[in-house]
Amino acid sequence: MSSRILYLDNNATTAIDPEVRDAMWPYLGEFYGNPSSAYSFGRRVHDAIEASRAQVAALINAAPEDIIFTSCGTESNNTAILSALERDRDRQQIVTTKVEHSAIVKHAEKLARKGYEIRWIKVDDQGRIDPDEVRKAVSDETAILSIMKANNETGVLFPVEELAAIAEKEGALFHTDAVQAVGKLPIDVKAAPIHLLSLSGHKLHCPKGIAALYVHPRIKFQGMLIGGGQEEGRRGGTENVASIIALGKAAELANQHLQQASHRMAAMRDRFESIITERLTGVKINGGEAERLPNTTNMIFDGIDGEGLLILLDQEGVCASAGSACTTGSLTPSHVLTAMGLTTEQARSSLRFSFSRLNRDEEAEEAAGIVVRAVEKMRALGDDSPVLSHTAATH
Ligand code: PLP
Repeated sequence: MSSRILYLDNNATTAIDPEVRDAMWPYLGEFYGNPSSAYSFGRRVHDAIEASRAQVAALINAAPEDIIFTSCGTESNNTAILSALERDRDRQQIVTTKVEHSAIVKHAEKLARKGYEIRWIKVDDQGRIDPDEVRKAVSDETAILSIMKANNETGVLFPVEELAAIAEKEGALFHTDAVQAVGKLPIDVKAAPIHLLSLSGHKLHCPKGIAALYVHPRIKFQGMLIGGGQEEGRRGGTENVASIIALGKAAELANQHLQQASHRMAAMRDRFESIITERLTGVKINGGEAERLPNTTNMIFDGIDGEGLLILLDQEGVCASAGSACTTGSLTPSHVLTAMGLTTEQARSSLRFSFSRLNRDEEAEEAAGIVVRAVEKMRALGDDSPVLSHTAATH
């Protein structure tokens, strides 16, 4: 087992930036007042929260009062959908894609079981949607069109400006899950009729358990999950102060580093991809022909058991994600990859690698070399691969 870590799983979560940790620290210590308290010891905390709200707003070109702090991207997504359903009783239909994060897909499936109509938009073999299909699906019965800005597994991007205009034309709300895009790409909520947008701290070098929902000032919004007085009655619960301060700092840093970070991540990702595709045969990039996030690559390694490869990589300290998840003892292929038409076998042979601005440039080359050697080793061993038999025994 390697003692050093080559962390290429930044779409799963990111390391906390030390500057973010420094910013939140005083709010875990001396500044413990309740931001709703009237005395100055509480006001001071309140003011820090408002400064943080302005930092988050600036990252997506919103007004501070249009930002609601939530506990996670999942809560932001769920709240956006539920609020849209509450807004107009004649609009009880949801239009979304087959490749959303489970924070949308599983929630929509639950709502379908309760009787709501869900219209699922298909993707092509590169993970792209056809806006004409969206045009056909959205109607005067649609409460909300919810389509992610960037896919978490493949990095494939969606044309949210065009999609927002489709929703607006039919009087429906448009929500985008921008959890993977914020901090990696410039986001401007004013460039299109985006009504709701989700972002999450732990993808932005901030701690887990803090996120935000942008709400367009002109929509009637009801916080549907946690009632209470905070956040102007839109999301109750005494504020998670230190984490909110952390999110503000993380947003400020993301804004500051955006352009350079995006170029660096793309350079590392492209170098990583080219080393692997030059040195190995039978490698394909899932969504490789589509426009993608700068930091993400998702690769199929022909004939390779992805879970087994992850174990070999783990022994060398490389952290990545598989295209299948172990649920109740069997491997379930990723719903994103199967929606793109991959077979179960191909999804099981797929791994995702995702970079961040905290990766060092040389890590791309080093990790690519480790991947190449691990795949060669597994291919050389074939059915005798100890990893394969280990995987079969444990899942
Ligand atoms: N949406 C996308 C695209 C994500 O990648 C994630 C997390 O992986 C989420 C939503 C959920 O965010 P959180 O982990 O903050 O609930």
